[in-house]
Amino acid sequence: MSATPDIVVVGSINADLVVRVARHPQPGETLHGTGGGVSPGGKGANQALAAALLGGHVALVGAVGDDAHAEGALALLRASGADLDAVRTVPGPTGLAVVTVDARGENTIVVVPGANATMTAPSLDGDADTVSAARVVVLQGEIPRDGIERAASLCTGRLILNPAPVLDLDRDVLLAADPLVVNEYEAGLVLAQLVERPASPEDADAPEATLRALLAEGAASVVLTLGAAGALVGTRSGVDVDVEHVPAVAVDAVDTTGAGDAFTGALAVRLAAGDDLAAAARFAARVSALAVQREGAQPSYPSLEELG
Ligand code: ADP
Repeated sequence: MSATPDIVVVGSINADLVVRVARHPQPGETLHGTGGGVSPGGKGANQALAAALLGGHVALVGAVGDDAHAEGALALLRASGADLDAVRTVPGPTGLAVVTVDARGENTIVVVPGANATMTAPSLDGDADTVSAARVVVLQGEIPRDGIERAASLCTGRLILNPAPVLDLDRDVLLAADPLVVNEYEAGLVLAQLVERPASPEDADAPEATLRALLAEGAASVVLTLGAAGALVGTRSGVDVDVEHVPAVAVDAVDTTGAGDAFTGALAVRLAAGDDLAAAARFAARVSALAVQREGAQPSYPSLEELG
């Protein structure tokens, strides 16, 4: 690997196969789609791309298969200048997300992990130095649990953990995050894990109470994203807790797919540059507001120049 990257993302890489339909098919039914295509995706790849386009010096640690989807899954990342030396090719398929979107914008998603399933703890042996040298390490929930936990344990810098989808991660790993980045739904599930009780619908309905409860359980900081309502940023210093609301930028959203990943990638860039968390979240809100005004996930991510 060339110069030491500031930001190392350890995570998933997918090809997203998106098809548009008037309505979702019934089991056994064949329908004509109204459009579709394959685009690069996966939460690790999305967040790495968002950060690279914003000027971050980013390396992605991940895996693709030896199939026809691998190159396309990495195409935008390659063009962005992100360091892909630690992306390996393994036998079998690249991670694949099959997304069906109906006329009302409702989607169904089937994710086949493919090569992402090889991102286990031992697979990170060769990347240990890269991960431990990073100023910021970014992790999500789309690789095996032991791979996430190993990457977190290698982190000597700041750990951004976006546990999506929520896995049953080690408590110490959840609490090592600074920040934990979750949406309303994920916040409730993570809190339920930390307090060892079933998730309750009230957790998602009362996001500030959930955020405060996460901090009370020992999280150093939490960013709870609220879609068009922005984000809550909570930080704890000893027993002192500070909660700030960062509004979203009011825009006409066209497609919010990958908005959360744009937000997390942007947060990583500003935290690596030394911003405090609330300032980084304000920047991330501007970035994700641009992303929701364009179709798709990765193709919607803005460059630093576009932010103005
Ligand atoms: P996720 O996709 O992970 O559920 P959210 O939907 O909460 O994440 O979105 C992440 C961030 O993207 C929000 O905090 C907000 O700043 C921005 N965002 C999402 N939807 C909109 C929208 N409709 N208008 C403006 N900003 C948005």
